[in-house]
Amino acid sequence: MRIAYLTIDDSPSKDFKKKVDYLLKKNIPAIFFCRGDLIEKREKEIIYAIKKGFIIGNHSYNHPHFSQLSFEDETEQIKKTDKIINNIYKKAGLKSKKIFRFPYGDKGNNKTIKKLQQVLKNLIYRQPEWHGITYKWFKDRKLDKNYDCYWTCDIKEWCLKGNYNEDIKTFNDVLKRINKTRNSNSNEIILMHDHEQTTKYFFKIIDELIKKDFKFCLPDIK
Ligand SMILES: [Zn+2]
Repeated sequence: MRIAYLTIDDSPSKDFKKKVDYLLKKNIPAIFFCRGDLIEKREKEIIYAIKKGFIIGNHSYNHPHFSQLSFEDETEQIKKTDKIINNIYKKAGLKSKKIFRFPYGDKGNNKTIKKLQQVLKNLIYRQPEWHGITYKWFKDRKLDKNYDCYWTCDIKEWCLKGNYNEDIKTFNDVLKRINKTRNSNSNEIILMHDHEQTTKYFFKIIDELIKKDFKFCLPDIK
């Protein structure tokens, strides 16, 4: 049985708690990569999720394209949210897990990529241990060695928010895409989003993933 590591980005939306409760009911653990500005609006819900065993990761303060920022602003996006998350974990009575994901997977412009990785390293961010990810492209891009987290399977339900010039136009296209993952032998780091425009699809996608016979796990984070 293949393992699925479920990661959900851009949280918390107004529907965050509903989603947390659905995952709890289905016994599915998950990592929520959260925006600092949104955590400030919904602290109570985040503390609730932490106490229920979900992991809260750093996804910047307000979701910019890092390659369009100065190094100082990039650093500020990471550090400001780091403080917010440390603080919220403290309120939940636990220690922050210190994992980070860049918005849009944009690791910054070429000049700052290495410096930014060092910023993450200095703040004790780390790469979780995702077991059984065997994709060659993942290893070739050293995505298992960086201090930020990438993914292997983008559900692309975010395309349903509008015309994003993708092959995904209808919910059926999303389902077809999920079915394609069947052909792989690798475990998957699944990327979904906590956007209120696609909340109605969220639950259906989870049900579809359950049908794929994945074993849902959290990675080891040391
Ligand atoms: Zn995002």
